[in-house]
Amino acid sequence: MISYEKARNLVIERAYPLGKEKVELEAALGCVAAQEVRAKVPLPPFKNSAVDGYAVRSADTVIVEQPIRLKLLAEQPAGEYFRKRLSHRQAVKVMTGAPVPAGADAVIPVEEAEEEGDGVILKRQVRPGENVREAGEDVAKGAVIIERETLLTPPHLGLLAACGFREVLVYRRPRLAVLITGNELCQPGERLRPGKIYDSNSTILQALIKTSGAELISLRRVKDDLKSMVAAIKLASARADIIITSGGVSVGDYDLVKTAAVKAGAQEIFWKVAQKPAKPLAFYDLKKGKKSIWIFGLPGNPGAVMISFEEYVRPFIKKCSGLKDFWPQEVEAVLTASYRKKKGRLNFVRVVLARKENDWLATPLSRQESGIISSLAQTDGLALIPAEADLLPAGTKVKVHIVGWKKNEVKI
Ligand code: AMP
Ligand code: MG
Repeated sequence: MISYEKARNLVIERAYPLGKEKVELEAALGCVAAQEVRAKVPLPPFKNSAVDGYAVRSADTVIVEQPIRLKLLAEQPAGEYFRKRLSHRQAVKVMTGAPVPAGADAVIPVEEAEEEGDGVILKRQVRPGENVREAGEDVAKGAVIIERETLLTPPHLGLLAACGFREVLVYRRPRLAVLITGNELCQPGERLRPGKIYDSNSTILQALIKTSGAELISLRRVKDDLKSMVAAIKLASARADIIITSGGVSVGDYDLVKTAAVKAGAQEIFWKVAQKPAKPLAFYDLKKGKKSIWIFGLPGNPGAVMISFEEYVRPFIKKCSGLKDFWPQEVEAVLTASYRKKKGRLNFVRVVLARKENDWLATPLSRQESGIISSLAQTDGLALIPAEADLLPAGTKVKVHIVGWKKNEVKI
């Protein structure tokens, strides 16, 4: 049995970006830019008005006599281009976003002017540059708009679109295949027969994968039968970069994932980690020519599935997706209650976090067993109680890995 630290290193050192591809902006949310991008056009592309108003020459408004009367030459909605140059004591009506004509250097809002005959009367003087958005004042032509390795979020995609890009070069999303084992499983919606339980891991994994940036290419349910499992692993390995199995990886008579993985040609990197839950976690390398397909054998208990996904699978996916920041977010927190455990395995303890002055307070939830699903939705983070600890009194500082289970960060 290896330590948690060793296991997470054995996993993460095998994660690398899987290649690059151009994707349309609509498909790029949650992807990581594989290239620096520079603006092809300045933003805004031309000098334009920030308000609905009248474009004027500010110098014309610095006059002693009142009222300030200018000749109204034309009206310019957004999207049109007025070609003439504004000369002495002339104004053009402009809408927000419309080009400010050459010669004009300020716009007075409609609220502060009044049209009269073929002219417009200004209620006040204007300063040079007032309400004018200069070409390139947001982004200069040629400026870097996206750094390499940026996780693309809605504002990044907006910036790319504003600069006229339809596509962006990103690291390819890892392709994931899921295999759900367990003869005891029946599907939600079916009648629950004696001895059966509803399969919750399929739903849990589909949802977690959606939040991870990876692409789920297949999810199959497999009987606890060696032949079917070998066949399912081989089939999944045809297209997947990563295979996740659920259940069947412990020491029971029907725990056949380990034998099946090896029969399918995979090499074990580790099996069993000194942690609770998810002690029987397994990790394999299935080589196909030069390429490795990575198999995570997750234990079947839903708590173990969720926790091992956050601690091992998600960081692996993130690093394969090109992210430099792949580990769970970690805070130091003070335990509000004592915690007792056996020595030997690191415990991931589901906690609720609260802020008190400068500290985070971590309160363990009452049910922690790996089969307990109900407390997962209340969990803010996982407190890491070291393997060698047995009793941690209230007030002890512990590391907590934040989980996003209360949020809904869906990446499509
Ligand atoms: P296993 O790792 O296959 O020995 O399963 C450990 C525990 O998790 C058993 O109580 C299983 O019934 C349960 N389990 C396995 N697969 C699932 C699943 N897909 N959904 C819910 N519980 C499961
Ligand atoms: Mg099983």
